[in-house]
Amino acid sequence: MIRGIASAACALTLLTGAGTVAWSAAPAPATPTPPAEVHILPVQGNIAMLVGAGGNITVQTGNDGVLLVDTGLATASDKVLAAVRSLSDKTIRYIIDTHVHADHVGGNEAISKSGKTVAGGNVVGDIGASASSQATIYAYQTVLDRMSTAAAGSPAAPQGAWPTDTNTTLERKIFFNNEGVEMIHVPAAHTDGDTIVFFRRSDVISTGDIFVTNGYPIVDLDHGGNIQGVIAGLNRIVAMAIPADEQEGGTLIIPGHGRLCDVADVVYYQEMVIIIRDRIQAMIKKGMSLEQVVAAKPTRDYDPRYGSATGFWTPDKFVAAVYKSLRAKS
Ligand SMILES: [Zn+2]
Repeated sequence: MIRGIASAACALTLLTGAGTVAWSAAPAPATPTPPAEVHILPVQGNIAMLVGAGGNITVQTGNDGVLLVDTGLATASDKVLAAVRSLSDKTIRYIIDTHVHADHVGGNEAISKSGKTVAGGNVVGDIGASASSQATIYAYQTVLDRMSTAAAGSPAAPQGAWPTDTNTTLERKIFFNNEGVEMIHVPAAHTDGDTIVFFRRSDVISTGDIFVTNGYPIVDLDHGGNIQGVIAGLNRIVAMAIPADEQEGGTLIIPGHGRLCDVADVVYYQEMVIIIRDRIQAMIKKGMSLEQVVAAKPTRDYDPRYGSATGFWTPDKFVAAVYKSLRAKS
């Protein structure tokens, strides 16, 4: 276990209002409270972590420029940019969106506009100077689909916030700041557009909300999530990470929310999610209804650590999402 800074923000605040979780999940007129402060935690290699802007933000810096994984809440962009500037005065070149939720992509527009795409020669000649007027925003295709489309109770995101470069393949790789950066899509997990980012030389994995330390994983069924995909994502993270020999450390893991981790933390969480999934699967096999499964409290022994009686993502909601995920599978 690595002692880090606990996240001041919470994934659950996002998931309010009619169950819709589009990029702008705060259609309410009330302005979301801006974060009090954005903290910087150096991780290792080229990587630092910003905490307090909504979801955790991963910052990679080096001679080539700045790359961010996620951009936090829109209301935090000034503070995020100030924190990035205290780490590097180089141009922001790349943003990678781990998924569509507003506490992870809310800063896309403001932060990408403060940067520039790596473009020159033929690219600029063909498309014009606007080709380089903002940082490239990478995401899985469904993130763009959702941000560019109005959904019930939630307008489309402004075009400046949209991903500019999407993939429909399971993996994508770039080389930046002297290291390989892998973007790994995990199908139907927290949402249907999740990307895990692996910084190979720094040996850091940024997980998005497939892994959080402050609660049960949120399975956003309305946006294509499924508990089986969350488990597949956790399995993938554990498979990629290498622990230090008989000590804490090795590959470090930046969760979507919560504190900096090593692989032992992810293994504990992975086992917890698998145990609960298996309990609920067994109850389904016995023919128990959703109400009966919820009443049986299959998360009870983990609730003191992960359960939140208040807020959106209560243990009952998590259990219901697991149940529905498994029913959808079968
Ligand atoms: Zn999320």
